[in-house]
Amino acid sequence: MSGARSRKNAITEITNRAPKLVDQTDPLSKIWATDVFSLSAMEEALSKNAFKAIKKTVQTGAELDAATADIVAAAMKDWAIAKGAKFFSHIFYPMTNVTAEKHDGFIVTNSDGGAITEFTGSLLIKGEPDGSSFPNGSLRMTNAARGYTAWDPTSPAYVMHTANGATLMIPSVFMSWTGEALDKKIPLLRSNKAMDTAAQKVLTLMGETEIAPLNSSCGAEQEYFLVDEHFANARPDLLLAGRSLFGAAPAKGQQFDDHYFGAIPARVQVFMQDFEDKLYRLGIPAKTHHNEVAPGQFEIAPYYEAANVAADHQQLLMTLMKSTAKEHGFLCLLHEKPFAGVNGSGKHVNWSVGNSTQGNLLDPGSTPHDNLNFLLFCGAVIRGVHKYGPLLRAVIASAANDHRLGANEAPPAILSVYLGDQLESVFKDIKAGKLLEKAKGGLMDLGLSQILSFERDPGDRNRTSPFAFTGNRFEFRAVGSSQSVSGPLVAMNTMLADSLNWIADKLESVIAKGEDKTAAVITVLQELMELHGNVIFGGDGYSSEWHTAAVEERGLKNIPTTADALPAFKDPDVVELFKSTGVLSPAELASRFEVYAEQYILSIEVEAKLVVGMASTRIYPAAMTYLNNLASTAANLTKLSVSIGQDSLEQVASETDTMMAAVAKLKEALSIEEFDSVEAHMNHCAEILCPLMLEVRNSADSLELVVSDELWPLPKYQEMLFIK
Ligand code: ADP
Ligand code: MG
Repeated sequence: MSGARSRKNAITEITNRAPKLVDQTDPLSKIWATDVFSLSAMEEALSKNAFKAIKKTVQTGAELDAATADIVAAAMKDWAIAKGAKFFSHIFYPMTNVTAEKHDGFIVTNSDGGAITEFTGSLLIKGEPDGSSFPNGSLRMTNAARGYTAWDPTSPAYVMHTANGATLMIPSVFMSWTGEALDKKIPLLRSNKAMDTAAQKVLTLMGETEIAPLNSSCGAEQEYFLVDEHFANARPDLLLAGRSLFGAAPAKGQQFDDHYFGAIPARVQVFMQDFEDKLYRLGIPAKTHHNEVAPGQFEIAPYYEAANVAADHQQLLMTLMKSTAKEHGFLCLLHEKPFAGVNGSGKHVNWSVGNSTQGNLLDPGSTPHDNLNFLLFCGAVIRGVHKYGPLLRAVIASAANDHRLGANEAPPAILSVYLGDQLESVFKDIKAGKLLEKAKGGLMDLGLSQILSFERDPGDRNRTSPFAFTGNRFEFRAVGSSQSVSGPLVAMNTMLADSLNWIADKLESVIAKGEDKTAAVITVLQELMELHGNVIFGGDGYSSEWHTAAVEERGLKNIPTTADALPAFKDPDVVELFKSTGVLSPAELASRFEVYAEQYILSIEVEAKLVVGMASTRIYPAAMTYLNNLASTAANLTKLSVSIGQDSLEQVASETDTMMAAVAKLKEALSIEEFDSVEAHMNHCAEILCPLMLEVRNSADSLELVVSDELWPLPKYQEMLFIK
């Protein structure tokens, strides 16, 4: 990387560069999952019995005995060493959105000074990374900072290569020494279990006799921006905050819609191929990629997988995306809103639940019998989104995502459910009792099969809904591009578990009164719709009418900022939800509130400091130089009795003054350190710091449009977005 830190150097460097060529001609069959200790790699390496045991653990979550763990550890070590690994690492997912790893060598020295390699079952199963600096929301005192990682056999281990070697990576959970969850994986595994238990109850009541364990699935579409590293190096805001804190709108933005699905620029294409090649070797099923709406914005979507594996893969994908982009001379921006006035980036989390015996429970199927199960599960989701809307808003809350939600491009900050016309009318009929009359009249076939299977190809998508049914799954579209998918998955699985428990109780009592199954289902769903049907909305979620109607007529909540959203974690209903399902204890949940609030405050404060610094040391000097140029030109011209330029002189002078006055106010606001509560501190960020940052920015952006292009220090929007 050459050190072009000025805007002009950056442009010269970029114009002279060629795509980095990488050889990716190996066929998929040769590279697919070659770096994964997959079931098939295990089958090759293990005895029949050991393989049978580990396979059962992987597929059903059954406990693994110590002897088998030892055998698996030995085989895993040999496999990794053959691939060049000298180190191993438990990889884990702290409460922040990062991925963490601590590397240890396989090496052990013996008394003769020789080196051997060693890796036992106990080393595989448990690590002690300490990790006392990870935020834990008061769950650990710093003097009792022990934290443990423990192997999660249900997510496959793999080898990561760098230019200098390889490391065996072991997906793990991360907990305190008292066994409390300090990470995002433990609640995800627990929420899956809670959902399974509740779903089993409902399916049993529905007369199913063979019911395999249920699992949630996730397919995440990831949007991102690529900016040439030379531009990024000249923009401290992009480097440190991941977004531009200054920048006037370009004359040409995305108004022509000519970037969406357009031809991918050559350098980006090469990056994508390189990146996808890496994903394939790691067993991540990258399926589609294309340009997104904004210039310089792209999307990648892997094929869906079991939620726990998909979540680990998603973290790995984000890490790899950033490092591969760097190799190609790009900064990869996963921030939700890197450029004001240009579309932001989201992560659509596609989610369904199912098993090997009943299949996907969110797939309407083609028979009435499937339809009844489907209607119950779909109803359970509707109830969940209604009852726990504020929680769903809280799990996608971040300083960055606040710029996106509720704006005119991304799903609103109001949680509603989109079902599509046909399904919506089925649920309306249920609410109106129409289907109940049919069911009671002994008509087993509700005629739903035709209607619902029709719906499976949802030609018409509602892009404005935060939570949409898309044929055989729900798509949570309001998730932010930089976020871990685990938080949203935990919330969805847990609310589903709660709703299924509610449904099971109701069904049981209705069936006990002698109603037949079909009538019982409709009765329960009718009550559910009475209570929660308000959350269904098929119209334009961006419109101002909806913003008013949602709140005033439907009683839904519009929650615009993270400061407003995070307190949902303290809501007694939410505390009870997590406690009753066993997903998070009240202490674990409270720690999450603290960690997320701290993250929010830190990121806004970092941005505010950057705004002060960049305005004072880059924009102010440029404006003053320009002012000086203007003044001396004007003075010279006055000598010639020509008087022009006074207007621009005054404009630049007053805009610069206004900007520096806002900078002074922002500095002052930043110096306040004492707050009565975390909530008060968050509000200070949302209500004081954010508007002041905007005030500085507005002046700076006006200056950008008048100060000489020659003198402007920061790469401009049109350069960063269009030059690749
Ligand atoms: P679109 O952009 O139209 O929403 P994509 O094909 O880009 O669709 O992405 C859809 C995502 O949803 C993919 O990751 C896909 O694998 C995933 N998906 C498909 N079916 C399911 C399902 N039953 N459960 C979870 N995810 C699913
Ligand atoms: Mg989508």
